[in-house]
Amino acid sequence: IRTQAKIYHDNAGKPIRMLGTVLDITEFKRLQQQKDDFISVASHELKTPMTSLKASIQILDKLIKTNSNPEKVTVFIEKANTSLIKMQHLIESLLNVSKITAGQLALNKSEFKVSEMINESCDHIRLAGDHHLVLTGDVDVKIHADRGKIEQVVVNLVNNAVKYAPLSKTIMIDIIKRSRSVKISVQDFGEGISYDKIPHLFERYYRVDSTGLQYSGLGLGLYISAEIVERHGGKIGVNSEAGKGSTFWFTIPVQD
Ligand code: ADP
Repeated sequence: IRTQAKIYHDNAGKPIRMLGTVLDITEFKRLQQQKDDFISVASHELKTPMTSLKASIQILDKLIKTNSNPEKVTVFIEKANTSLIKMQHLIESLLNVSKITAGQLALNKSEFKVSEMINESCDHIRLAGDHHLVLTGDVDVKIHADRGKIEQVVVNLVNNAVKYAPLSKTIMIDIIKRSRSVKISVQDFGEGISYDKIPHLFERYYRVDSTGLQYSGLGLGLYISAEIVERHGGKIGVNSEAGKGSTFWFTIPVQD
C-alpha cells in the first residue's frame, strides 16, 4: 500500500484541509516481479544456445586450422546451425510478444492448402527421424489466412508435442472441414496435463513446470498461438488427461 497526503493552509498558515490518496500496489508489484522473472528466464534461454554456438565456432576454428577431419567439421557446422535456429526462434517470440502488446500483429492473408503447409512446416521433425507424424482428415481443404503465422501455430503445437511428450513416438495431426471453419488438431500420447493447469496454459509466460529446468522455454508459444488464432477469428483449446496425452486444436473460419 502506498499513501500520499497534501495539507492545505489558509492565509494565516493554519491547516484547513488535507487531501490523501491510498494506492494498492500489490498487483503492480506482482506484474513487475513477473517481468523481472521473465527477463532473467529469457536471458538464460538465450545464453544457452549462445554458449554452445561459441563452443562450436572455437572447435571449427581448430579443425579448419589443422585441416583435420572434414566429417567433424560438418557435425559442428550442423551444431552451430541448430544453436542459431534456437536463438532465432527465441528472438522471434520476443518480437511477436512486443507486436501483440502494441496491437501491431498484422495479418497478410492468402489462400493455401492446409496439408501442404503442415507438411512443409513439419519437415524438421521428419528429418530428425525421432517421431512419426501422421496426417489425417480433409487433406485437400484450403483456407484463406496468414500462412506464415498459421505455420507458426502448427510448429508451436508440434514442437510442444515433441518436447513435452518425448516418449510418445507418434504425433497425429488431423484436419477437419466443418460448415463454417476448419479445425486442425495435434495429438500426442505423452504425460498429458492435469485439469487444474489447463485454464492457464494460454497465458503469457505460463509454464506448468515453471521452477524445473527439465525443459527449456519461455512460456510464450501457446500465448502467441492463441493471439494468432484469435486475430483470425478462430478458437484454440486443448483436451488433455494426465497420463494419457493431449490434443491441442484450433479453428480458422472459412467463407463459403
Ligand atoms: P514453453 O514451451 O516455452 O514453456 P508454451 O506456451 O508453448 O511455452 O507452453 C506452456 C506450457 O504448457 C509448457 O511449459 C508445458 O508445461 C505445457 N505444455 C504445452 N504443450 C504440452 C504438451 N503437448 N504436453 C504436456 N504439456 C504441454
